[in-house]
Amino acid sequence: NGTLAQLDPEIAAKLDDELSRQRHGLEMIASENHTSVAVMQAQGSVLTNKYAEGYPGRRYYGGCEHVDVVEQLAIDRVKALFGAAYANVQPHSGAQANASAMHALIKPGDTIMGLNLAHGGHLTHGMRINFSGKLYNVIPYQVREDDHRIDMAEVERLALEHKPALIVAGWSAYARQLDFAEFRRIADLVGAYLMVDMAHFAGLVAAGLHPSPVPHAHVTTSTTHKTLAGPRGGIILSNDADIAKKLNSAVFPGQQGGPLEHVIAGKAVAFKIAASEEFKERQQRVLEGARILAERLVQDDVKAKGISVVTGGTDVHLVLVDLRDSELDGQQAEDRLAQIDVTVNRNAVPFDPRPPMVTSGLRIGTPALASRGFETAAFTEIADIIAEALIAEADADLSSLAQRVQALAEAHPLYPDVAPLS
Ligand code: PLP
Repeated sequence: NGTLAQLDPEIAAKLDDELSRQRHGLEMIASENHTSVAVMQAQGSVLTNKYAEGYPGRRYYGGCEHVDVVEQLAIDRVKALFGAAYANVQPHSGAQANASAMHALIKPGDTIMGLNLAHGGHLTHGMRINFSGKLYNVIPYQVREDDHRIDMAEVERLALEHKPALIVAGWSAYARQLDFAEFRRIADLVGAYLMVDMAHFAGLVAAGLHPSPVPHAHVTTSTTHKTLAGPRGGIILSNDADIAKKLNSAVFPGQQGGPLEHVIAGKAVAFKIAASEEFKERQQRVLEGARILAERLVQDDVKAKGISVVTGGTDVHLVLVDLRDSELDGQQAEDRLAQIDVTVNRNAVPFDPRPPMVTSGLRIGTPALASRGFETAAFTEIADIIAEALIAEADADLSSLAQRVQALAEAHPLYPDVAPLS
C-alpha cells in the first residue's frame, strides 16, 4: 500500500524526470507521440488486474463482464474508424500484430516480400534475425536509386519471379504514399496475400488525409501509438470473414495469452478521439509541419552543406534528412539536435555508405509537436532552428538555438494538469 512516491521513490523520481524531459524538450521521433491524459488514465487502471483470455462473450475466465464491454467498444470503434468489417485489438504491439497476421496466413518456409530494412522497411517485414526473416524466405524489394521511391515495376518483377505467399507493404522510414491498388494487383497476379502495415500513417488514414489501405489489403496491421496517438499496442483489420477467423486464433492462442485489457481500454479511448474533428485538425497540422520542415531543409544554406531531403519532400508526417554528402553523419546530427533538446533518431538512408550504427540520415517527425499544439508559426520556427543547428560549424555555440527551443516548449505546455508524483 501507499502511493508510488512513498513506496518506490526511485521509480517515482524517474517518472517525474521523464515528464519533465518530455515537457522541456521537443519530441520529433517520427514513431512517437504524446497520448492524451484520458488514454493514460485508462491504461493506468484496475483493468491491468484482469485475465480475459478469449474474446468478448467467449472468455476462459470469469468476471469478464466489464472488460467484455471495453474490448467490444474498442473493436466497434476501430472498425468504424477505418471502415473494416473485422478487427482484433489484442496484439500487444505492432510486432505481435505482424507476427500474428503472418501466422494466420502463411506457413514457415513460405516466401514473403517486404521493403528492405535499409530502404525504410520494418524489422518484422523480413529482417534476417527477426522472426520474419527466420521463419520465412524473404525477398526484399527496394527503392530506386535515382528518386528513392519504391519501384513498383521491380515489385512486380520480383513477385513474378519468386511467387511469394505474402507481400508486405508498409514502412518505418519512407516519406511518400504507397500505391495500395497496385500492390494488390501484383499480389493477385501471383496469388499472394497483401498485408499492409500502416503503423506509421494510421492516424493520417483515420483523419482521411492519406489513402486507406483497408479496402485493398487482405489484412491491415498497425500500431496504436504513433500518428494514431493511443497507448502502445497493435491492431489487425480485415474485410474477409475467413481470414478474420484465422487472425483471431493466430493472436490468441497462437501468439499471445491474456490480452492487456487496460491497454485495450486506452485503445478504445484513442479510437474515439481519432474519430473527432479535433483529431483531423491535428493531423492536418502534422502534415503541414512536415511539409514546412522539408521545405526548409532543401534551401540553399542547407544545400551548401551537402544536406538534403530524401525524395525532395514529404507526403506524410516525417522527413528523411539525407546526410550522405554532408560532413555531419547521422550520429553527430542526432547528438547536435539533442544538445538543443530536440529529440530525433538517426536513420539509414537508401544506399547509405555509412555503417548502421552511424548512418547518413535523420528521421524527423511532427506528430508529437502537433499533439502539443504546434501550428504554422511554431513549425516554421522549429524547422529554422533545426536547419541552423545542422549547418552550424562543429564548434559553434548552440545556446541561442537551445533558448529558442525552450521558448517553443514553454509556449506549448505539455500535460499542464498533470502533477509530478513526488
Ligand atoms: N510496423 C512498423 C511499420 C513500425 O514502424 C513499427 C515500429 O516502429 C512496428 C511495426 C512495430 O511496432 P512495435 O514497436 O509496437 O512492436
